[in-house]
Amino acid sequence: MSGFVRTFDEHLRNFVDRCDVAVVGSGPGGAVVAWQLAEAGYDVVLLEEGPPFQPEDFVTDGSAAIGRLLRDDGLRTTRGNLRMPTMQAIALGGGSLVNSAICVRPPASTLAGWAEEFELGVTGPEDLAPHFDAIEAALGVEATPDAVQGRRNLLFRDGCRALGIAAEPIRRNVRACQGSGECFTGCRARAKQSTDVALVPRAVAAGARVYASARVGQVLSHGRRVTGVGGRTVRPLCGESGAAFRVEARAVVLAAGCLATPLLLERSGLAGASGECGRNLQFHPGVAVMGIFDDPTEPVFGATQGYHSLAFLDRGYKLETLWGPPGVMAVRLPGQGLAYKENLARIKNAAIWDAIASCNRSHGRVRAKRGSLDPLLDWNLDHRDLPILSEALWTLARIFFAAGARTILPGVAGLPDEMRSLDEARVLRTAPIRPQDLLCSGNHVFGTTRMHGDPRRGVADEFGRCHAAENLFVADTGLLPRSPAVNPMLVTMALAHRVAGAVAAAL
Ligand SMILES: Cc1cc2nc3c(=O)[nH]c(=O)nc-3n(C[C@H](O)[C@H](O)[C@H](O)COP(=O)(O)OP(=O)(O)OC[C@H]3O[C@@H](n4cnc5c(N)ncnc54)[C@H](O)[C@@H]3O)c2cc1C
Ligand code: SF4
Repeated sequence: MSGFVRTFDEHLRNFVDRCDVAVVGSGPGGAVVAWQLAEAGYDVVLLEEGPPFQPEDFVTDGSAAIGRLLRDDGLRTTRGNLRMPTMQAIALGGGSLVNSAICVRPPASTLAGWAEEFELGVTGPEDLAPHFDAIEAALGVEATPDAVQGRRNLLFRDGCRALGIAAEPIRRNVRACQGSGECFTGCRARAKQSTDVALVPRAVAAGARVYASARVGQVLSHGRRVTGVGGRTVRPLCGESGAAFRVEARAVVLAAGCLATPLLLERSGLAGASGECGRNLQFHPGVAVMGIFDDPTEPVFGATQGYHSLAFLDRGYKLETLWGPPGVMAVRLPGQGLAYKENLARIKNAAIWDAIASCNRSHGRVRAKRGSLDPLLDWNLDHRDLPILSEALWTLARIFFAAGARTILPGVAGLPDEMRSLDEARVLRTAPIRPQDLLCSGNHVFGTTRMHGDPRRGVADEFGRCHAAENLFVADTGLLPRSPAVNPMLVTMALAHRVAGAVAAAL
């Protein structure tokens, strides 16, 4: 039997559904589980708070897109020693709809480190290899070809080459990418294999019923077993509540994202006894440098993020090229009035490259705002992790000047807005930089329902089985016990692929 995707306008009245497995959240984690279980013949219901988006719904204006695709209109931030913006999508496809499609496996040393520190007996590179292979095949993960790199990505390659720094085209989940640089506002070419494009349709073809604009408010349970989920539909873009629903299920998989899943567990009395639910909140704080070249870079063309360097992973950071809607990029330009106008005009000669850092000493906690499922994010950038970010800024400056940049704009408060030589940039390495001086953002979030071999120290085991109930699972980035060193989507999908097997075994 073919399934369906039901939207808000079709949720005319309260409803009850019954299935084998209810999956909450259609991002990278949840979509993998729904697809796998539906194709294995299980009766699956997928519940997603956001609406589906079609190519004609995407707008390239950055602020308009942010308001439509992101939670809290893109204004969500951490509270602590810096206000760091963090973006989570609210859409069928979750973060995969707005992300840059970067798919990288964590280094073997990272997975080995997890195994040792968190007592994970079967989460080594060889254990996960078949799951990585399956996801990469399903999403068409391939290295970005030069034809769609565009000059701003290739300049990064050239700068790295000149310095002898290893760099490579990024492997991404795209098919026939046109290099439009629009991944963040939604891929109008439908080249990006976000989960709403690549996996949800396969789940639906295998019979899954997808309720979009359906916000789960509670996991229902009886004793040590969960019995389903309940919630209300929500009108897209405004959040107004609609019909009530209940989905009765033999197993429940929570993949609402690591800022929502722990709050659902807490509210449902299923956080478990470890005390770890909502704790161990970690980010990859990201910093970026803009470089201005003499000749136009025509930055509007090129894969959003086409090149990266893994050469500094053991020093705690990864370097990448980056692009976004010009209006969003312009936020980081200094100056006012005429000076600002002149800086805006320089965007056509610009490239932006970023670093994401594994800040494994910087932990926080997600809690619910009183009476709601909206998260409060308490998180501090530990002073011991700061040198990672300043070294990364300095390395980016070196690559820019090696690539022939005329000037760079590092975006660090208290330092010059603009640096015209490597000598001037040296201050990035030597100046005492405080957390609040950095223009950081943190879109990689994980750790809040971490897996741990010891039930007293984690929320789930390495198969995503929650310690609090026999038939309750987690399959989002909350499972990661600490930084994966690289972008988190692929490893989360590989883990979710394995979670699906564990759910099937439990039915
Ligand atoms: C701009 C940006 C660029 C990024 N680029 C990359 C990249 O290139 N590569 C990479 O590896 N990572 C990237 N990331 C991070 C990556 O997208 C996330 O790590 C990933 O999406 C997390 O997957 P998830 O399944 O854990 O959660 P999500 O993708 O957040 O999915 C959770 C889903 O659950 C839904 N949901 C939440 N609460 C409820 C509820 N109560 N009821 C029903 N549904 C609910 C949400 O609406 C959402 O759709 C990027 C992130 C951003 C924001
Ligand atoms: S660069 Fe453009 S065409 Fe390629 S995946 Fe991103 S949005 Fe789609």
